[in-house]
Amino acid sequence: MAPVFSPDIIARVKDETDIVEVVRQHVSLKPAGAVYKGLCPFHAEKTPSFIVTPARQRYHCFGCATGGDVISFIMETEGVTFPEAVEILARPLDIDLSAWLKDDESEGERRAYHRANEAATTLWREAFWEDDLGRKGRSYLLDRGFTEKVMREFDVGWASGGSGWLESGLAKAGVDRELAIGADLLRHSDRGGSPFAYFRNRIIFPIKSISRQVTGFGGRVVDQGEPKYLNSADSPFFSKGKLLYGFDASRMSIAREKTAILVEGYLDLLALAQVGITNVVATCGTAFTPDQARLIKRGARNVTLLFDGDKAGLKAAVRSADIALKAGIEPKIVRLPQGKDPADVVIGDGVEAMHQVLREGVGYVPFLKKLAEASGGDREVNERALRQALGTVAGIEDPLRREYVLQEAAEVFGLTTDLLREEVRKEAAGRPAPRSAAGSAARSVGNGKKNSTGPQGSVKPAGNSSGPDGKAPTRRRTGPVVRRQLTQVNTASIETDLLSHILMDDSGEAARIFLAERDDLQLARPEAANLAAELVVWQEQGAGSSPRDFVIDRWNTAGDGIYRGFVSQLISKEDHPVSTDFTRVVQDCLGRLQANFKRQKMAAGHYSVRSSAEDSKSDESPTTES
Ligand SMILES: [Zn+2]
Repeated sequence: MAPVFSPDIIARVKDETDIVEVVRQHVSLKPAGAVYKGLCPFHAEKTPSFIVTPARQRYHCFGCATGGDVISFIMETEGVTFPEAVEILARPLDIDLSAWLKDDESEGERRAYHRANEAATTLWREAFWEDDLGRKGRSYLLDRGFTEKVMREFDVGWASGGSGWLESGLAKAGVDRELAIGADLLRHSDRGGSPFAYFRNRIIFPIKSISRQVTGFGGRVVDQGEPKYLNSADSPFFSKGKLLYGFDASRMSIAREKTAILVEGYLDLLALAQVGITNVVATCGTAFTPDQARLIKRGARNVTLLFDGDKAGLKAAVRSADIALKAGIEPKIVRLPQGKDPADVVIGDGVEAMHQVLREGVGYVPFLKKLAEASGGDREVNERALRQALGTVAGIEDPLRREYVLQEAAEVFGLTTDLLREEVRKEAAGRPAPRSAAGSAARSVGNGKKNSTGPQGSVKPAGNSSGPDGKAPTRRRTGPVVRRQLTQVNTASIETDLLSHILMDDSGEAARIFLAERDDLQLARPEAANLAAELVVWQEQGAGSSPRDFVIDRWNTAGDGIYRGFVSQLISKEDHPVSTDFTRVVQDCLGRLQANFKRQKMAAGHYSVRSSAEDSKSDESPTTES
């Protein structure tokens, strides 16, 4: 909830701010009579047509017709909202905004939370540079080629091992145990006793909000510890999916260059920053979200996706490009050499090599085509790639952009625009694209409108077992209550589909959706239930790595031979073309399994009086055990 400032507060902020001083932070201004002139920060020009008029407290560019007051200048150059710009300007003026900010009743809590995080940042930063204490983390980064300057710039820290060390350090800074626990710096131990430090023996990357307050942390181990990355848990004041690491520092250069570079890791961002590539943001260990796309869109219309050169990186890039396009940003995908991450390229091969790589970025549709060609390029592979592109097109809201991308797809895949438009229309109407004659026949059983595949409805290009139902006809018709198409469901195949998509989603989001719904679910095969239990362990241990890495790490100890065979079958689905909508597929599968579960219970005649929650508890579901 953004605060709404009164007109007099806004007038004060404007009156007391010297617009020339503010603009000067971005533009070199020369006095010319009663005005100041400079090169416009909003368009590229060689002769100055940008003018600041102190008497009017306004700026104007004759080259691109941009103009406004000091607040709009801050909004434009820093990519912030109106209230954020007011806050940024009010701070150095000591204008008290607390009366406005306090409207939000959690404001006091929020401040305390930030205070705790700032105290921890200071402690960890000091520890990082302390001779003995921070040596491990410091020499790890120095050895990898990171400069001292960039580490200081980003407030890199070292969380030492002892929980007592953190607690007493925080106490000295006025942060008591309760507040430290509230800010997720300390956690209660299961076994009682003193709380433990959430981050231990890790390099710390403070994650800041747009107004530069520390809202959370990422921590990386330097040796073989697990998980490799650990993030602060989401809270009312910290939401990984809505923040971008480094955005506080990079938003100005993003606004200036109208392009953002999106990377996956903290260290990738640092590596780029230290060679002067500053329009970079990183996701905080989760998949790129529409909210994050909207953040970027405040300042830029383009995003370059610079992910690791392995299969997971490729998938993440394709998925992110889909989200960017739907949010109205033009994505370019950069492909790094196999096995390299952005930091390897910058530090190992030099900044020129990185610029070269960035220049080679490819648009979404051509990239899908290239991928299809790389995996054989036969008709089927091409068709899947095209369907994926059309699935994205169907989700683009802006009709003009949708048409452009559609035309691009027609051109790249050598089909007519009309044909593709018709396909997109069907996608948008929520009908799954026909896969085969048998498939469409089965679908026509419904009344022609949406059938019962839940929220899915659009492309699922991996094209494995999402639609194996439709074998036997309706078993029972019980009027309006069971209006859904009741068919004999091949649960084993849905389970396979469900779990393979969970393992493919490195963000862990698909796993979390699954785990949140598990009470209402029964998995038929023991090996599937076994894997589900592993996912619970994954979550309980902090969900630091991707579910797949976690499962692979525990491969040998987690189950029997059948389990191992099952998991390896799921993971080898990796070789199938990229399916990006993991969470949607998972929701779809869950919906079908849950419906089936209920149906079975109804058939068994004990789905009547008791509540469903009670019911599922008393059932023999193997998953609720763990
Ligand atoms: Zn201009």
